[in-house]
Amino acid sequence: PNTIYTIGEALIDFIPTITDTELKDVPQFKRVMGGAPANVAVAAAKLGGQTSFISKLGDDAFGNHITEQLEKHAVDTRHLVKTTEANTGLAFVSLKKDGQRDFSFYRKPSADMLLTADEVKDIPFDSSDILHFCSVDLIDAPVKKAHQQVIEQAIAAGGLVSFDPNVRLPLWDSSEACREAINEFLPYAHVVKVSDEELAFITGIEDEEEALKSLFTGNVECIIYTLGAKGAIMLLKNGETFKHTGFQVQAIDTTGAGDAFVGATLFQLQKFAITQTKVNQIELEQGTDILAFSNSFAALTTLKNGAVDALPSYQEAEQFLAEKKK
Ligand code: ATP
Repeated sequence: PNTIYTIGEALIDFIPTITDTELKDVPQFKRVMGGAPANVAVAAAKLGGQTSFISKLGDDAFGNHITEQLEKHAVDTRHLVKTTEANTGLAFVSLKKDGQRDFSFYRKPSADMLLTADEVKDIPFDSSDILHFCSVDLIDAPVKKAHQQVIEQAIAAGGLVSFDPNVRLPLWDSSEACREAINEFLPYAHVVKVSDEELAFITGIEDEEEALKSLFTGNVECIIYTLGAKGAIMLLKNGETFKHTGFQVQAIDTTGAGDAFVGATLFQLQKFAITQTKVNQIELEQGTDILAFSNSFAALTTLKNGAVDALPSYQEAEQFLAEKKK
């Protein structure tokens, strides 16, 4: 009970020790744990939430490193399966002059893709739990069925299902395949987080208001629309809209800001007991508070390099928020 489950990929990001370089010219990399669902689990755990990460890792050094990182951050790993059939996924990254990132992925297939529906069928969801997923592991592989399985179980148990598409086009054969998978899974989620950069791609609609409205399909009752430095908006199916304009900070690395934001939002939804049946009834004050705290937590994450290493503590985010309110 009261667990935030996340499912999907955890991998090792090899980030460059120098920037402004083409990937082929990067001489050295630093190893960091990556994968949005893993990052979200760590972010929510850092705030004090009970979190559990559902995935498959290679029975190898990198899989062991990820397991240790998750455990160090108090993420439950009992639903983490190890395999010798494939290695833990790797991603080599370079940062180019214009801030653009270049990737080279080693996952053909990676262990996470081999997680089967059978391996996740006994997870004991209940109505106080949250299940969060992303789109990278919605590709054509056993892990897609594993997603279907856990989503069905969580919904049947009355749990709250959350989806952050977190579009990563280089991992797909075509952008159409990515869009299709996202739209196939979207109707199962009660809460959907999209960023301003991906809204038009996902919906195929240029007009922002129309595009946001079109996301209310199937179970969707709450959309969280993030706007980078400009904060975030929460839209409910009942027509209510809450806004928080975010915080101005001297951002040095926005990697993982979206995951920190989502982790903070899920933590608060659970703290306020906003379950599957209550999500469409979030009130102004609560909705605005959730956005303000998530913006504060995510903004502080941009002040340091990296994703999980940059996460502030609960107290730091509260204190930052209190100072800004003065
Ligand atoms: P990511 O790049 O991690 O995938 P995203 O695209 O999912 O992020 P964004 O909308 O870029 O999501 O950012 C998520 C949240 O992080 C924002 O709503 C905001 O709270 C915070 N944030 C991001 N960039 C900045 C910034 N430059 N200054 C302050 N806050 C920021």
